[in-house]
Amino acid sequence: MTLLGGLLPAEVDELTSRMDLPRYRADQLLQAVHRECVEDVANIRQWPAQAREQLQSEGWETGLLPVIRTVVSDDGETTKSLLRLGDGTLVEAVLMQYPEEGKHPRSTVCVSTQAGCAMGCVFCATGQMGFERNLTAGEVVAQVLHFARFLRERGEHVTNVVFMGMGEPLANYAETIRAIRILTDPRAFGLGQRHITVSTVGVVRSIDRLASEGLQVGLAISLHAPNEELRQELVPTAGPTSVRDLLDAASRYFDATGRRVTFEYALIDGVNDSPELASELATLLRGRRTHVNLIPVNPTAGGYGRPARKRVLEFERILRDAGINCTVRVEKGTEIAAACGQLRTDDANQRQVNVTLVE
Ligand code: SAH
Ligand code: SF4
Repeated sequence: MTLLGGLLPAEVDELTSRMDLPRYRADQLLQAVHRECVEDVANIRQWPAQAREQLQSEGWETGLLPVIRTVVSDDGETTKSLLRLGDGTLVEAVLMQYPEEGKHPRSTVCVSTQAGCAMGCVFCATGQMGFERNLTAGEVVAQVLHFARFLRERGEHVTNVVFMGMGEPLANYAETIRAIRILTDPRAFGLGQRHITVSTVGVVRSIDRLASEGLQVGLAISLHAPNEELRQELVPTAGPTSVRDLLDAASRYFDATGRRVTFEYALIDGVNDSPELASELATLLRGRRTHVNLIPVNPTAGGYGRPARKRVLEFERILRDAGINCTVRVEKGTEIAAACGQLRTDDANQRQVNVTLVE
């Protein structure tokens, strides 16, 4: 199975010229895949039947993947879908909607870039699964197209994409960049580069590469600790100087792109949430043009708990008082195990879900 949604427009041009079709057929194909989100090659109604048959006989599929199940949170604002890849591997993708007065809601798709993850963060359900495999760009784009199609039926559209689902995007660098290029190409999905955010636990060389791509995508770095010792405890694959290395990489990213980097900090009760650590983090970040996003940890099987609300607000206040830009992440979809760090595709997850099935 080869997904047409995984091709760059220039490759669609090559495909159509190899099929002896005029160039406008490439645009029609891109339109059908990325704007109409057609399910089947047979439904590319703009194309002559013979050309569609040729695509089918060559094994091409459109941009979509089969959906195993979709669950919706009680407030209707978070939707999680389990998709099946060509080889039977399962991945989860999430849609988060934020109502805006008088407008269509902001609709953010959170995509997975790997099945499982090799980084092993102790509080993350994906990390505890271990690594299965990298996704291709087509499989990443398919997650966006899935929700684009879902929203289209309601007259809405995808406004943002965040690479914060299962896996470490920068450990699957080439396919991540390719997916970003497809999603932002005006001839393909056409999303603004500034509407995409890549979240990484910190692959320094890849952050520098990303900075040199000439893209305007946002970068979020999962820091979780202000010192090396604590960070290594929470992110066992982090090197001995990762905190320092990441701060330097963030500065270089800002210098190259003009985009301020966000530091994510998953707050864990009794582990990294003390006022002393907040002050240590403030000292570390003082004078740097950054933003801190505090994520009260979501429950997973690992037994790491969420701090009391008061403690979260205290941590935030210490950072703010020190002049550090800081917000607490709005929690979405915890009850359907769709929140940060809760994605996994084995039974443990599906059982803890109180499902509302769609269709
Ligand atoms: N691998 C990348 C992107 C996917 S994880 C990364 O780690 O950045 C996306 C975010 O969810 C990261 O900031 C991660 O630290 C956070 N996260 C993981 N497990 C979590 C949990 N149980 N509760 C809250 N946030 C979690
Ligand atoms: Fe992987 Fe990110 Fe989870 Fe860490 S938090 S295990 S890097 S997905």
